[in-house]
Amino acid sequence: MRRFIPLTAAALLAAMPAAAQDLAAGVAAVRDKALTDGTAWDVVESLTTEVGARPVGSPAMERARDWGVAKLKELGFQNVHVESFTTRAWSRGAESAEVVGPWPQKLVILGLGNSASTPPGGITAPIALFKSYQEMLDQPPGSLKGKIAVVTQRMGRTQDGSSYGAVGIQRFMGAAEAARRGAVGYLIRSISTDDTRLPHTGGGADAGIPAAALSTPDAELLEHMVARGKPVTVHLDMTSSVNPAAPAWNVVGEIPGREKPDEVIVIGGHLDSWDPGTGAIDDGSGVAIMTAAAKLAGQAGPPRRTIRVVMWGSEEQGGSSRAYAAAHKDEAGKIVVAGESDSGPWRIWSVSLPKPGANHPAMKAFRASLPPLETAVSPAPPRFGGSDIEGLMAMGVPVVDFNTDASRYFDLHHSADDTLDKIDPAQLAQNVAVWAGFVYAVANSDVDFRAAAPK
Ligand SMILES: [Zn+2]
Repeated sequence: MRRFIPLTAAALLAAMPAAAQDLAAGVAAVRDKALTDGTAWDVVESLTTEVGARPVGSPAMERARDWGVAKLKELGFQNVHVESFTTRAWSRGAESAEVVGPWPQKLVILGLGNSASTPPGGITAPIALFKSYQEMLDQPPGSLKGKIAVVTQRMGRTQDGSSYGAVGIQRFMGAAEAARRGAVGYLIRSISTDDTRLPHTGGGADAGIPAAALSTPDAELLEHMVARGKPVTVHLDMTSSVNPAAPAWNVVGEIPGREKPDEVIVIGGHLDSWDPGTGAIDDGSGVAIMTAAAKLAGQAGPPRRTIRVVMWGSEEQGGSSRAYAAAHKDEAGKIVVAGESDSGPWRIWSVSLPKPGANHPAMKAFRASLPPLETAVSPAPPRFGGSDIEGLMAMGVPVVDFNTDASRYFDLHHSADDTLDKIDPAQLAQNVAVWAGFVYAVANSDVDFRAAAPK
């Protein structure tokens, strides 16, 4: 009988050709360095302390641009520059809400992006409350005339964040659906998994009516009032402004490739944020993770291909993906792969890699680096890499999708609690280690994610 000999990592390595061995050793070294490296933490600490909240169209976004340029230069990136574009920017003004009757109480709200202002002095109207979004959609046109529609559907906690798309629709589209049915205002339970009295904002529909998110306890308060069977009346007073062509910027830095500088790996996060917090989680951490990953991947010496970090300048209200794709359409065929970090600073529990290239030695080396990080390789190919690389994806650029543990993400997302203290440096470092190993492997090989998958 043959003895079973376990195939150790060392044995695997010994079975590889020399170049592949170098690559595997390089990936492992970058990974290990990342686990004790403080660059990502320093970057997000700097951004949240020195800039803070950065809504597109605000003066803070100009400071964020200058911060990004200075930070990339300070970290040794080359070709640091700013790519300008314009985009529509909605800005919050004063906002308040209260129950007028039968039991007067203040409500805690945050207007949704694209919300209309109320007339001066606000509006007072009875509410029509729906515990599910579908229940509101089932109302016939005109049936909500003169009412403030309220949707209080709850969001479940998930590791992959998938409940955001499913329940988030009440925020993304709800104001338009309410307006179509005659509503004069629209309130939702925050798209959130927390139980604090902090509301969570985010982009909504441009529907011509005021629209806001209630904190989760306030959404439940309205449910309790409605359950008593008496009409509930709410007063809403909201102001906001829109700049249809606000200046915006994608901030870029590179580590130029030594052999094939025109072959580019594009990675980044978005520099803009919503206004209530300091944008530490969404997406200061993404900017920090990718900046640190690029730096670590390039630290051992110039890579064969170019590594490019992009700090996209208008994700929350849209515009940066389109602007980036338009500016780089002639280069799209040379972009090897694109990746975005925009789902928080927590550990990466799985990676989705394009099928073509999966068996290239570079990807074998990358996959071999993952078990100590407790990161799995998903059998599913990437479907969505991030909103800022959608434009590149539409032009045929391969993308990767690395899945962070989003269990806590929607406790904090788009709320005043999106702050630095919520970041765990150890998980942040694990996240950087996964990205840095990947970027190193791609930048120091000829892996092609567009090639036909090997049989
Ligand atoms: Zn984001």
